[in-house]
Amino acid sequence: MIIVSEEVCRSVFGRDDAFNAVEAVFASMARGDAYNFPVIREAIGYEQALYGFKSGFDRAGLTLGLKSGGYWPNNTSKGLTNHQSTVFLFDPDSGRFKALVGGNYLTAVRTAAASAVSIAHLARRDSKVLGIVGAGHQASFQLRAAVEQRKFERVVAWNLHVEKLEALARIASEIGLPFEAVDREQLCAAADVIITITSAHEPLLLNEWIKPGTHIACMGTDTKGKQEVDPALVARATLFTDEIAQSVSIGEAQHAIASGLMSKDAITPLGDVINGKHLGRASNDEVTVFDGTGVGLQDLAAASAALRAAEAQGSAITIEL
Ligand code: NAD
Repeated sequence: MIIVSEEVCRSVFGRDDAFNAVEAVFASMARGDAYNFPVIREAIGYEQALYGFKSGFDRAGLTLGLKSGGYWPNNTSKGLTNHQSTVFLFDPDSGRFKALVGGNYLTAVRTAAASAVSIAHLARRDSKVLGIVGAGHQASFQLRAAVEQRKFERVVAWNLHVEKLEALARIASEIGLPFEAVDREQLCAAADVIITITSAHEPLLLNEWIKPGTHIACMGTDTKGKQEVDPALVARATLFTDEIAQSVSIGEAQHAIASGLMSKDAITPLGDVINGKHLGRASNDEVTVFDGTGVGLQDLAAASAALRAAEAQGSAITIEL
């Protein structure tokens, strides 16, 4: 059995690696070469935690396994990140356990890569202002990955607790971009690309605030009941997702469908755009939404690339089971 620690993942697996792994696996899913198994996610009635498993198999990448973990909302006060996860990889030829890979850093970097892939394929080329809604653990990863996709000139951001925006302001300054804390309506008026990455359970962005041509990556809604944007906005937009089954059950589309504003048929896998099967954005006025629900195959793709890199660099630990 091979172990790749959190620290090793951080040193061998960067944003480009994550972008390439996620883009490839979205393409693979859309071709039907890779599929996710049904997600198990339960409120365990302890520490307000959500715990579960995401798993799948990629026949093209020969990656089989699962990510186990979840969300512990009180961890920040203990000096830990709220998301905790570990990836388990298995040999698809024999079913033997292959590797245990730390999943916390990989989750953040692969989630940021998913919205970055959506920006690369769907945002207007001339996008200048990036809006970030949320300032938790994932938000800084989102900011760093997004700015690499377009020539952004400015960052605007909103968070429930405004003081938490300081960390994002520091990153923007490090990158050399002006940063402004704004209210949500101002953010929508200014931003060409918006990333939502909160744990909200109600619409934070209203349809009428969104200007034509905006691309929105909704990344926070990954569970039944969570919600970040107005269902009318989801219905108005050309809607893309990582996986349709998750979009309608645990993503933003769950609310628009429940309200009868749209049907499942209106949702396109982002992989179809990557594979050239769908045009993507058709005009500069179109509003595009990426419903990024987070699929197990993203974790498996990231973990197996990190495993390969760690083995190549001699930083993976091997033990006999
Ligand atoms: P975190 O706990 O570190 O931060 C939570 C963020 O949500 C903070 O900005 C907080 O202010 C905000 N928030 C909480 N309640 C809110 C409310 N009612 N209204 C508005 N804002 C609110 O969490 P994180 O690790 O940054 O994750 C953020 C979200 O992203 C979570 O919902 C998480 O489940 C989700 N997530 C999704 C994926 C994916 O692949 N789609 C991956 C990882 C995390």
